[in-house]
Amino acid sequence: TNRELTNLNAIVDAIFPLIQAEALLCDKDVQLDLGDVPSLELDEKEIRQVILNLALNGLEAMSCGGLLKIRTVLEAQGVVLEIHDQGPGIPPEILEKIGTPFVTTKETGTGLGLAVCYSVAARHGASIEVKTGESGTTFWVKFAMSGAEK
Ligand code: ADP
Ligand code: MG
Repeated sequence: TNRELTNLNAIVDAIFPLIQAEALLCDKDVQLDLGDVPSLELDEKEIRQVILNLALNGLEAMSCGGLLKIRTVLEAQGVVLEIHDQGPGIPPEILEKIGTPFVTTKETGTGLGLAVCYSVAARHGASIEVKTGESGTTFWVKFAMSGAEK
């Protein structure tokens, strides 16, 4: 891995045009809400992939006109990346196996996106939480802070 002190917001900003381009194909909206977060030891390429995988899943889950929200915030435990979509939710049988490679409901899906997210998070000492239901899905990637980063 190739970690450097990097601000999560800078990575979100860098990947945003790609997410936005994908959203515009079908009149979806992407809203950014970037908080004042401290820099962390991050592998930028890996984290870019995490943001992209979660954002594309969110966009793919929504019908046209939907809103995807990407937020960063500093909480007591550390820096949190939140990605929320207004899709129909993750089916229970998929949720049960979330992060397992090759689990997909998409005709041309690889089922690798979330598996990558979970392994990148683990390598960064981060955890992933998910809440899903009929009115949407939220993923949180929670980075713990070491003393040096506070
Ligand atoms: P892929 O996108 O190639 O199918 P992923 O690992 O990214 O693989 O996702 C696995 C499966 O999890 C998807 O096929 C989908 O069924 C479900 N999923 C992931 N994110 C969402 C989401 N935001 N809303 C609904 N379902 C989701
Ligand atoms: Mg995917």
